[in-house]
Amino acid sequence: MSAQTGGGLATVTVYDSFLARKVAVEPQVPGQLSMYVCGPTVYNYFHIGNARPLVAFDVVARHLRARGYQVKFVRNITDVDDKIIQRAREVGEEPTAFAERWTAEYHRDYAALRCLPPDIEPRATQHIHEMHTQIEQLIARDMAYAVDGSVYFAVSHFAGYGELSKLPREELLEGARKELEPGKREPADFALWKATKPGEPAWDSPWGKGRPGWHIECSAMAEKYLGTTFDLHGGGIDLKFPHHENERAQAQGIHGCTSFAKYWIHNGFVGFRWVYGEKVLAQGSKISKSDERMRPLYQAFVARTCIERHGGEAVRLWLLTTHYRNPITFDIDVPPIGFALGNEPLDLDATACDGTDPTGSKSSGTLDESKLRLPGLEEAERRLEYAYLSMQRLADALAGQAPLTTADAGAVAPDADGWLERLYQALDDDFNTPVALAEWTAALAFVNRLLDGKLTPALAKDVRRRTLWRLQSDLLLAGKVLGICERSPAEYLAEHRVRRVTAKGLDQARIDELLTERAQARQQKDFTSSDLLRTALLDLGVEVMDTPQGMRWRVRD
Ligand SMILES: [Zn+2]
Repeated sequence: MSAQTGGGLATVTVYDSFLARKVAVEPQVPGQLSMYVCGPTVYNYFHIGNARPLVAFDVVARHLRARGYQVKFVRNITDVDDKIIQRAREVGEEPTAFAERWTAEYHRDYAALRCLPPDIEPRATQHIHEMHTQIEQLIARDMAYAVDGSVYFAVSHFAGYGELSKLPREELLEGARKELEPGKREPADFALWKATKPGEPAWDSPWGKGRPGWHIECSAMAEKYLGTTFDLHGGGIDLKFPHHENERAQAQGIHGCTSFAKYWIHNGFVGFRWVYGEKVLAQGSKISKSDERMRPLYQAFVARTCIERHGGEAVRLWLLTTHYRNPITFDIDVPPIGFALGNEPLDLDATACDGTDPTGSKSSGTLDESKLRLPGLEEAERRLEYAYLSMQRLADALAGQAPLTTADAGAVAPDADGWLERLYQALDDDFNTPVALAEWTAALAFVNRLLDGKLTPALAKDVRRRTLWRLQSDLLLAGKVLGICERSPAEYLAEHRVRRVTAKGLDQARIDELLTERAQARQQKDFTSSDLLRTALLDLGVEVMDTPQGMRWRVRD
């Protein structure tokens, strides 16, 4: 059994990025957990790397709830920002409406990844007043200063600056130099409020018209909804510096060094490998839209592309196969375009990012989506189909059987006992989803062995019945915490078939016709015709399974 807190709840350990070690989470209020995660800046479809924190922190919230904690989960939407303004201008749209449109697209893909909505999803533009209050408090404490309508945080006035990211001083300054603003006293100072520029959205403020800096948004919204101190703060590792360092400086600059997040959780990057057959053409540790050489490939990394090709749930399963802190490599398999034709794979981390390839030619060409393959997601989709087929078999086996009552108490097969608790314990241990998924996969394999009649000795009838019911309820609980296999098998498998029929270019009308003919032949007990029709369907790539519940079919791999 796992360790228990005083409140009787399981102890959950997390790797705290601030302490750089695993610690047992001790919530501020026993039994309750407050969590803030940095949300998206909405100006485009998000990519597979951006999908990772969405899925990772969704599992964190689901698991803490499954363990009995009352979770308050806040994740913001940044709906005013340089990139939003620039992109809106490029497409000739008003920035507010533009951000609204991309928020809706974000919500669509987010839901497709089977992520549950956070409890509160505050938008930056609706919290300008709270940001003003914090900026005024920082100025009053001599942590910030106003210059020509802008306000900057004075990094040298906050003693704890750099404690979270632990970067050497030169790198701290280097990060801040990217923010080129006039009037800063020191290069590392960063903007809390930006004086208005022509054509930009602007709000009135004590320092004149302008808009907020990115970092103050999160400090203000976290305080409003979670108070000056809360339990978990999450986000991608790329946010640790400067964004989280700055959030922390702002909040602690106002409320003191014990305020703000008690624990910091950061997910690792999604790297990529561009392969063509056996050959690796290029690789990198981080998907970056700003690297021009990657632009022709970029469509392959867009989450919407992945979701449309393999379903959001398969994308989710693929992400969860690696522990959230470890790097994960997204493989794309597509013929060479533009560059990367050398003998050695092009390492996009090591080579200069100036939009040119080593041979000097500008990267060009467009991605041929008909030739694109995403091997990791293909494998995840196969695993998911197997899981849903297993759940369907289990439901079929239990159809028409009376559910268990107290009179049915008694042992179940050992393989059906204890695995769910081990799955929860894996998640208690810094949300170890690969170990949790291994337990889940073993349980599914056991379902199939049992239903195939392959157990020796066979289970006694009452043990078998209890075992089947237990497996079904525990698999549904596992599905609920992982966000995998939560749907009815019929619903998922129907959606999956449509995707497979489209991907393989099969003729759905012809399949339906043959299936109807075969159902009629079986009804008339014409088994010769039925067998011939089965072969005809197999030739099309369709596998038919006869079950007591009727005929089912799937598209073969
Ligand atoms: Zn943030």
